[in-house]
Amino acid sequence: MRERVLGYREAEAAIRKATDAARELPKLVNRISLTTALGRVLAEPLRADRDQPPFARSTRDGFAVRAEDLPGPLKVVGQLRAGEMWRDRVLGAGEAVEIMTGAAVPEGANAVAMAEHVELGGDTVRLMTGRRLAAGENVVPRGAEACAGDLLVDAGTRLEPAQISAAAVAGYAEVEVYARTRVAILATGDELIEVAEKPKLAEIRNSNSYSLAAQVEAMGAEPVRLPIVADELEATEQAIRAALACDVVVMTGGVSMGKFDYVEHALERIGAEAVFTGARIQPGKPVVFGRAPHGSERKFFLGLPGNPISTMVTFALFGAPLVAALSGETGWHWPRWTRGRLTAEARGKAGLTRFVPATVEGSIDGVKVTPRVWQGSGDVASAARADGYVVVPEGADRMPTGAEVSVLLIG
Ligand code: AMP
Ligand code: MG
Repeated sequence: MRERVLGYREAEAAIRKATDAARELPKLVNRISLTTALGRVLAEPLRADRDQPPFARSTRDGFAVRAEDLPGPLKVVGQLRAGEMWRDRVLGAGEAVEIMTGAAVPEGANAVAMAEHVELGGDTVRLMTGRRLAAGENVVPRGAEACAGDLLVDAGTRLEPAQISAAAVAGYAEVEVYARTRVAILATGDELIEVAEKPKLAEIRNSNSYSLAAQVEAMGAEPVRLPIVADELEATEQAIRAALACDVVVMTGGVSMGKFDYVEHALERIGAEAVFTGARIQPGKPVVFGRAPHGSERKFFLGLPGNPISTMVTFALFGAPLVAALSGETGWHWPRWTRGRLTAEARGKAGLTRFVPATVEGSIDGVKVTPRVWQGSGDVASAARADGYVVVPEGADRMPTGAEVSVLLIG
């Protein structure tokens, strides 16, 4: 394949362009229970089935009043619990109704005086001296949040807890979502053995298939773990051809300059075209991305370097946005980033954008980021103690203690 090594930003732009194409591809739709919809992408817009709130809603425990009658004393003429309507009559001048949070404010009333702000006397209530209450306070008018038929959540949105809440409010016991994107995971390497096997000294357990499957599952897609492929051209080509039946093919290993790195060669043999054959990042420099023919279609592929942290970081950077788009998600929500302040310096690498494993601790005052000591892109032990990766941009030889940095979150 013709070599094309891009800077991080160019590689990101190339992936963004590809995701626009991926989003347009036809997609299957499933109708599923709301209880299993977390992390799935909506294929239908969710609309309000009635006004929200459906009645003028009290946001406090207190007394529904006509604000112009205050400070009172007012006569307490009844009590309203959540779920009850005041049907007796329109609230008259000089009257108040005791009301609970979430109950319907009686007709005639225009505000709710908080229980903490009133004094009771027999069957009367009055506003404490020094307190004020304007018309409209502590009342959400009918339809103020949404009117019947209004769009609540658009198609193409991932269902996170807030969207599930909106769906539940509007009565969607089932939702239409896009079918889970099938992601083929293909590990290459003569040294690899299955996780359950006992390795000889020079053998390595195929951990990448598991970390990738976890990353794929975390974004609501379906990992398809395929058998380990030996470092042979013919076997690699056959395995890739079979894997192309999935929506996207993610390979690990075999993309470096080693004598037995056959992935690029095999891709070439099946007529694949690379968008890039490397990115100036560490870890992950040899990452390959492009499209390959499969029958009458063209599928996306990603060849990730085999070192476990390279694999995780490159999937997070380039695989996740692609899978999200193939899954029908609109917008640009992957990778997940945060910003935080460094508690110790993070070193860069000349000519590369670097990703350094770090502990990320958040509080209401901000996010603290502590780079971890690590032995490079094979150091799974260090990665397992980290929550994310500090970015040291290309051109910066270090980010000093106290600097605000971007942090790549994996998962
Ligand atoms: P490669 O990208 O094939 O040159 O591999 C780079 C390093 O990653 C080597 O040390 C490999 O043994 C290791 N490696 C490759 N594939 C895997 C895998 N699936 N799981 C764990 N380690 C791997
Ligand atoms: Mg290899």
